[in-house]
Amino acid sequence: MRSGEALELRDCHGRTVLEAVQTVLSGKGLGQDFWSNLCVLGHCILVARVGRFEGLSCYTTGASQENVLTGIHILLTLKCTNECDHCFLHCGPSREATFTIGQLRTLIEQIKQLGTVTIVYFEGGEPFLFYPLLLEGLRLVRNAGFGAGIVTNGYWATSIEDGLHWLRPIRELGVVDFSVSDDEFHRLDKHDRRAEFARQAAQQLGIPTGTICIDPPYVSRQASEDHRGKPVIGGGVLFKGRAAEKLTAGLPVRPCNELTTCPHEDLLSPERVHVDAHGNVHLCQGLSMGNIWEKPLAELVRGYDAQKHPIAGPLLRGGPIRLAQEHGLEINGSYVDECHLCYTARKVLLPRFPQYLAPKDAYGL
Ligand code: SF4
Repeated sequence: MRSGEALELRDCHGRTVLEAVQTVLSGKGLGQDFWSNLCVLGHCILVARVGRFEGLSCYTTGASQENVLTGIHILLTLKCTNECDHCFLHCGPSREATFTIGQLRTLIEQIKQLGTVTIVYFEGGEPFLFYPLLLEGLRLVRNAGFGAGIVTNGYWATSIEDGLHWLRPIRELGVVDFSVSDDEFHRLDKHDRRAEFARQAAQQLGIPTGTICIDPPYVSRQASEDHRGKPVIGGGVLFKGRAAEKLTAGLPVRPCNELTTCPHEDLLSPERVHVDAHGNVHLCQGLSMGNIWEKPLAELVRGYDAQKHPIAGPLLRGGPIRLAQEHGLEINGSYVDECHLCYTARKVLLPRFPQYLAPKDAYGL
C-alpha cells in the first residue's frame, strides 16, 4: 500500500465492510455469498491487512492493486467459418475485423513493453482463415520470447495428411498449446471429422494438443448440499454474446437480485485479456479496458483502476444487478445466470459507454 492512500476495505463484490455486514445481518445472500461474507468478517478482524486475503479476492480501493498481465489472447479475426449459437463474440462469415501484419507487429511490440506477459494465444473467429498472418504472428511472438498457443475449429483439416501440411510450419515455430474446438456447435454435421483430423495431425507432430468441448445447455437436478436439489444448467455454455440471445429460452432462471457477482472474470486485476483488431482490450468479451490504438497497452494496464471503470466498477461492487442499478436501468425480471443479466444490461448501456462496451460486433451489431 502506498503512503497517503485511503484504507477503504471492500469484499469480493466491491461492498464496503458496512454494506457487507448489513447484507449478513439482513440474511440475504448467505448461500453462495457465504465466503464473501466470511471474507468481510476477516477484514473486520484484520483491518491492517490489504491485498489478497487467503485466496479470496479482497482488496482496497484506489490504485493500490498491481495489475500484472501474463497472458494475451489475440483475436486475429472475428471472421469465422461458422456462426455458433454459443459464441461470446457473435463471430461468423460476415465479420470483418482482422489484424493487418503491421498492427500485429505494433501489438507485439506493446506486449514486449509491458514486460510481464509470458504467453500469447491466437484465436478468433477462426485464425486459420488468415493462415499467412497467423504464421507471421507466431514468428513475431516466438522471436519476442513468448510462449504461443492457438485455438482453432480445425475446418482446414480435410484429412490427417492435409492437416500435417498445415501444421508442419507451426510445429517449426513452436506452440505450447494447440486447442481444437470439437463439439456439436462446431460440427456442421455429425459425420464431420475435421476437428478430429486436426487433433490427430497435431499429435503426430508432437504438438501439445487439447480439445475444447462445450455441450448445448441441459438441465439436471443436483442433490448436493450446495444446490439443495435446485436445477443446475450443465454443458459449459456461458450465457454472454450470442449464447445470451439464442440459448437461454426455456432454461431455469433466478431473480435478478441474486445476481450479485461476476463469477468468471477477475475484473479487479486480470491476468489475461483478449485484444481485437479494433484495438479493444477485453476484460470480458465486449467489456473493454481501453484501446491500444489510442493508448499503449502498458499505459492502459498500469492505469487501470477497476473501481473507476464505469462497467467493471459496478460489477465488482455488486455484480450485474449493481451494474444495472448504478446506471439507472429498470431491471426486475429473472435471468439464467449472472452473464445473461450482465450481457443484457451492457447491451442497453452500449450507446452511453461506446468506448468501454466495445466492439459493437460483440453485441451482434
Ligand atoms: S458477469 Fe459479466 S463480466 Fe462477468 S463473466 Fe459474465 S458477462 Fe463477463
